[in-house]
Amino acid sequence: MDANHEKTTLEQLTRKFITGCHILHYHNVVDAYGHLSFRHPFKSDRFCMSRYIAPGTISSPNDLIEYYVKDAEPVDPNSSKGYSERCIHSECYKRYPSVQSVIHSHSEAVVPYTISGVPLRPCFHMGGFLGTGVPVWDIGEAYQPDDIKDMLVRNVHLGSSLAATFSDGGDVPKHAVALMRGHGLTVVADNIEECVLRAIYTQKNAAIQTTALTTRAAYGKATQEIKYLSEEESAAATNMTKWSAQRPWKLWVREVEASNLYVNAA
Ligand SMILES: [Zn+2]
Repeated sequence: MDANHEKTTLEQLTRKFITGCHILHYHNVVDAYGHLSFRHPFKSDRFCMSRYIAPGTISSPNDLIEYYVKDAEPVDPNSSKGYSERCIHSECYKRYPSVQSVIHSHSEAVVPYTISGVPLRPCFHMGGFLGTGVPVWDIGEAYQPDDIKDMLVRNVHLGSSLAATFSDGGDVPKHAVALMRGHGLTVVADNIEECVLRAIYTQKNAAIQTTALTTRAAYGKATQEIKYLSEEESAAATNMTKWSAQRPWKLWVREVEASNLYVNAA
């Protein structure tokens, strides 16, 4: 692959990344907090995310910083200030070579499922990727004595503990989503579009599940348990959201392009 082709690919990915940040904000998956990242397409020991600004305001390649996967430190030591929770991303890339994009969000629809003991489960076909059980990671069990106990994933060992939640020890993630107690969620995927889709539909699925649970509780004499997707249905629906991901993506791109709030100069 020649240098020009690599440059073009990275430029396209940067543009997609900025749009992805805007889409996540447009859909309330992130507010001023939360972040998207992608693995460098030609240097797999590096990943890219934005400097310390709200995702909806990322507008140019100058807002991006390249980091090393090994320690989440910037390749350029003179880079602008970065997010304090970038070890969430670096440790997911380190543990899972197939992961190409990561999202961390504080989605308010999802947070109840991080503290209530009620498992988040796939309620409809678009949430099939949630599988048979979404793990909840408890930072309280991962702190070391010197860690600041502010719920933030501030260092490599906390990030590593969170990343381990996605599997049973292998180097392929078994789960697409991990919940974080009293904080939010982290999503992993093979590409930016799929990662954005999973984050948006995790939020939608959580809202549907909350409505189903409260509806059932209000009725008081429901004749059956809530019927979530079966394991087989979840697996098939996961495949469906993989092959159809470009359809919502193209709509979401137009939505943010049509909004005056967002600028993408990449
Ligand atoms: Zn956070």
